[in-house]
Amino acid sequence: MFKTYSALAALLLAVIPAQAASKINVMTATQDLAAIAREVGGDLITADSIAMGYQDPHFVESKPSFLLKLQKADLLVTVGLQLEIGWLPPLITQSRNAKIQPAQSGYMEMSQFCNILEIPQGQVTRAMGDVHPMGNPHYWLNPDNGRRIAKALADRFSAMQPANAEQFAQRYADFDKRLTEAEKGWDAKLAPYKGRKIVTYHRSWPNFCERFGLDVVGYVEPKPGIPPTPAHTLDLINLMKREGVHLILVEPYFDLRTPNSIASNVGGQVVVMMPSVGGNKGITNYFQLFDYDINLLVNAFSKIK
Ligand SMILES: [Zn+2]
Repeated sequence: MFKTYSALAALLLAVIPAQAASKINVMTATQDLAAIAREVGGDLITADSIAMGYQDPHFVESKPSFLLKLQKADLLVTVGLQLEIGWLPPLITQSRNAKIQPAQSGYMEMSQFCNILEIPQGQVTRAMGDVHPMGNPHYWLNPDNGRRIAKALADRFSAMQPANAEQFAQRYADFDKRLTEAEKGWDAKLAPYKGRKIVTYHRSWPNFCERFGLDVVGYVEPKPGIPPTPAHTLDLINLMKREGVHLILVEPYFDLRTPNSIASNVGGQVVVMMPSVGGNKGITNYFQLFDYDINLLVNAFSKIK
């Protein structure tokens, strides 16, 4: 009897961990990447992110729990272009997970697969105050870059689990189809406002605005990562009055005092746009991110006389 039980126990031990381990454990820098990973990975993967969508992804405070998550990861997916340079590199080193170290097979920077805007010409360093020294890292805000991220992840998952390659390919095809369909709706909603001029706090929206035909004419920050200054704010107010700009898009983690004062000076409106999945409780996937922001924008534009 004992023998049977121990044999059974041995069998269970052999079988259960093997099944659990067969899911690809994906860690991502941001919730957008985790959301897209889930679209193509389904229940063949688990995906968790370090930064939350309501946090400024340039500045994330480290927690011990991040290390535990990184230690167990099979794959680490990052935005790149130095978005995470202030907080992720030491976590990767401290995790001591050999698989996810940069240049190893379990480390994947998604910028290489995407269309990147605002790539600086000539010598640019972070010392100049610009947190985008390699091009704009907020590229996931164009759905086509979301599509490219999904394709790259599906291919990588297939390479890691060749037996499930067909399922990953199928899930990518389905995501691509649903995204194309959703884009038609988003285009239709924003079509009446094509060419409208707006101001944004940080340079989070060039990909979004290029895709949906909006014209960003100025920024509340004098430079990416540099807080507003009185002189720059005055210039911006004059510019907005001159160009007839009414909307100021602000990310949820910035102080609203300067944007509010600019808005009251120009008779405009502040719109708190969500740059990421997880920005609020209602945005749990990549589609809801665009649904939320586009509805907000359409509503704001429709109120301008
Ligand atoms: Zn940025």
